[in-house]
Amino acid sequence: MEDTSKNFIENFIDEDIAEGGRFAGMKVHTRFPPEPNGYLHIGHCKALIIDFGTAEKYGGLCNLRMDDTNPAKEDTEYVDAIQEDIHWLGFDWGDRFFYGSDYFEQTYEFAIELIKKGLAYVCELSPEQFKEYRGDTTKPAISPYRDRPIEESLDLFERMKNGEFPEGKYTLRAKIDLASGNFNMRDPVLYRIRYIEHHRQGTKWCIFPMYDFAHPIQDALEGITHSLCSLEYEDHRPLYDWVINNVSVPSKPRQIEFARLGINYTVLSKRKLRRLVEEGYVSGWDDPRMPTLCGLRRRGYTPASIRNFCERIGVNKVPSTVEFPFLEHCLREDLNDHAPRAMAVLRPVKLTIVNYPEGVSEELEIENNPNDPDAGTRKVSFSRELYIEAEDFLETPIPKYKRLYPDGPECRLKGAYLIKCLGCVKDENGNVTEILASYDPESRGGDPADGRKIKGATIHWVDAANCCDAEIRLYGNLFSDSDPDAADKDYLSCLNPDSLEILQNCKLEKMLESAVAPAQYQFLRSGYFCVDSKDSTPEHLVFNRAVSLKDGFKK
Ligand code: ATP
Ligand code: MG
Repeated sequence: MEDTSKNFIENFIDEDIAEGGRFAGMKVHTRFPPEPNGYLHIGHCKALIIDFGTAEKYGGLCNLRMDDTNPAKEDTEYVDAIQEDIHWLGFDWGDRFFYGSDYFEQTYEFAIELIKKGLAYVCELSPEQFKEYRGDTTKPAISPYRDRPIEESLDLFERMKNGEFPEGKYTLRAKIDLASGNFNMRDPVLYRIRYIEHHRQGTKWCIFPMYDFAHPIQDALEGITHSLCSLEYEDHRPLYDWVINNVSVPSKPRQIEFARLGINYTVLSKRKLRRLVEEGYVSGWDDPRMPTLCGLRRRGYTPASIRNFCERIGVNKVPSTVEFPFLEHCLREDLNDHAPRAMAVLRPVKLTIVNYPEGVSEELEIENNPNDPDAGTRKVSFSRELYIEAEDFLETPIPKYKRLYPDGPECRLKGAYLIKCLGCVKDENGNVTEILASYDPESRGGDPADGRKIKGATIHWVDAANCCDAEIRLYGNLFSDSDPDAADKDYLSCLNPDSLEILQNCKLEKMLESAVAPAQYQFLRSGYFCVDSKDSTPEHLVFNRAVSLKDGFKK
């Protein structure tokens, strides 16, 4: 019976375990195979949480393997960053860290085995001819070199390896089925000649295996039981199985595919993300607007929020696009429980309590987190001059405005006192420079002594005599189009010009003066903020808004 509390991958694994067979006596063993040509993004996160998470659930193991089979641009910077990101999410590969290129020697030997079995041959069609001879759904492919004698193929393949031929002159192809309805099975190329330096192998090799040949071999050599990958490999599975069944690898892994993650208002492709970095559209891979793990981390995302997001979107076979606000929703939930509260005034204006004694200050006790009874309280200083948000005062109120205006309603200063607005002071240009109010000395803590009803809003504040300054960065979507990744769109022209707003001279509670990354807070009424891990210093504090308070996610 299918267990509906499990996803389809787990159901397959359960079947495999129940059957015994090729997995008898083996622990569930998966792998995560990133290509080290960029930083991990939230899409990779889905894959790695499935890989590491599935192994974890079954008490098995998950290897980390850098898929560097393709000798393209690869960098140790990426290798290090990938490891850091996976550790940050809370997963570990133990001592099972590998490179696909470490298996080049064995892969080469397996290719020779196939030639000797009459299952592979050296072909000399040019890339153009190859395309021309591919056939179509009604016509099989044509492969004129298919029946080349084994000895001749062995000789040519060795000479390909020895660098005797130019790029494109020869390929090694599997001999499978030229009439197959699956074009991947029409004698696919297994090896090609490339004169390009490999980041680990140097110039040792000038022939490189194709992913479809290398990957199943790497999986089998590592004893992987379940090779979980995204849906675009589904049509390649027959080839995966063919390789596993025709070379003498020590085990027979099973490939299972799941749908890729797509998120609206962003792009999830390393190539596109790299271009944003290289052409300066963002400040780097870790720009807090990027959907990379390092970007999300710097923005203030927690491992728990990302893991929870990936759990909840589930593992499915059908591609779908998840709403960005759902990712934000998951972060908000986590921070709502865990982030201590603080007061910060983003766009400050001075407020003077005219009947509060001059030169005096007092300490008020304010709750750190109403959702967490263990979070306790903190002391916040209060005096005659405060800062409040400029938008909490209007000289002429608009309908339903319940904040400060002359002769307006009594308002509550969060955790402090009740005040009434008396008026304001303006400069020669007519700009409000100071708001004047009186307070009720009997309302310490914020509640009236006589129980009267308070009609005005509760507003946040900081003590002007005892606060600190900070730069605060507010982020919006990186793209203003909901589907910048669509094939028919130039994603660069979809960039949102207003995705970053920088506020200077924001006024924060004094205790935030010593905040260092990755500290996170809920700034009352404004959102969740974290100390910027790169640019914040004790002399110049920088906070990022991770997410606003208002939930844009509609269930
Ligand atoms: P990109 O297009 O971003 O370069 P990729 O597939 O080439 O993606 P890899 O480094 O090869 O990147 O990916 C490592 C693993 O992550 C692969 O198993 C791949 O299937 C998976 N993966 C990549 N993007 C996504 C995504 N959006 N959703 C789910 N899995 C993904
Ligand atoms: Mg890839």
